[in-house]
Amino acid sequence: MRPTPFTTRAVLALGLAVAPVACEAQQRPGQGREPTLPVPSITEYRPQSTLVVPEHEVPRARFPVVDIHGHPPALDNRADIERVVSEMDRLNIGVMVQARPSSGARLRSQIEAVREAGYADRFVFFASLDLDGVGPGSGARIAAQLEADVAAGAVGIGEIGKGFGLTTRKADGTRLEMDDPELDVVWETAGRLGIPVFVHTADPPEFFEPLDYANERWLEMALFENRRFNDPSRFPAFDDLMAERNRMLARHPNTTWILAHMGWHTHDLARLGAIFDEHPNVLAEVGAVLYDLGRQPRFAAEFFSKYRDRVLFGKDSFQPDEYPYYWRVFETADEYFDYYRDYHAFWKLYGMDLPDDVLRALYYENALRIIPALPTAALVGQ
Ligand SMILES: [Zn+2]
Repeated sequence: MRPTPFTTRAVLALGLAVAPVACEAQQRPGQGREPTLPVPSITEYRPQSTLVVPEHEVPRARFPVVDIHGHPPALDNRADIERVVSEMDRLNIGVMVQARPSSGARLRSQIEAVREAGYADRFVFFASLDLDGVGPGSGARIAAQLEADVAAGAVGIGEIGKGFGLTTRKADGTRLEMDDPELDVVWETAGRLGIPVFVHTADPPEFFEPLDYANERWLEMALFENRRFNDPSRFPAFDDLMAERNRMLARHPNTTWILAHMGWHTHDLARLGAIFDEHPNVLAEVGAVLYDLGRQPRFAAEFFSKYRDRVLFGKDSFQPDEYPYYWRVFETADEYFDYYRDYHAFWKLYGMDLPDDVLRALYYENALRIIPALPTAALVGQ
């Protein structure tokens, strides 16, 4: 439409009237100023919260817990076993899955030591898989070793580390893709034996992004060179790894899968929900992603209720003093409290205030369902 002189004038008038106001609105106090004191570095600035709100420390979980992602030391001697058990008792961990995986003699020696120490009802063991240098015939060999390890007492596979998909090579030098058909027989064997496969794929998505000042994990990536996977000439992209993992899940619907670290989708729980919806055979555990759950307590609590039969408790690194942070996030409605690892998160945590039925599912009921061989003495009737 060709503007009439009137509308042209009106627009001009409006522009003249609005422009100075818009300009003032954009110029907020302090904007454009530079600090007149030396600026602290990212590691120096540690503001202490002045907020005073109710606090509820939770040294001991409300219900007995199965730690599906246990990484205690090798449980092959009485001293270490008793030390770990005393920490478990203090925290109310009924059963720990030894997910620092082992196979053959190393697996059997731990199972034997735990039995001799009188704690067979407190630990179970997941088996490792030798995925290096896979070539024709490897699948059958790995599956045979798995059968032997399960016969020796292993009740699951894993933790399969992030190298699977990220760096592990085949015999021919190419990257071992997670949905490689050579491994089909392994996952099918797990399904037939009724044991879950616990797999850690990729790492936080930020590790695959440019290391700039917009990256939420800048400090961690700066501290740990081996957590930078953002060079596409060396590593697959995060989304490509997720797609590859999901194809593996889809190929084996009769196998129970546990995604470590909630599949690294806690920043986008709806994405994990879509995976749960599509794959009824998939569960996930919460190890080392508390920083994400504790910054979205309401949405996360809704998610944990909706998918109460899919979430498992796991801690990852065995630092007894860190478990109570998990209990506090899951069990209380506390606000704005510290997290234990500053390079994971620059923010505070909030409690999800989960109801008892969801807590029980998270802490032990789901684990009991997917690991039929799990000892129950330290879990039920408490
Ligand atoms: Zn782990």
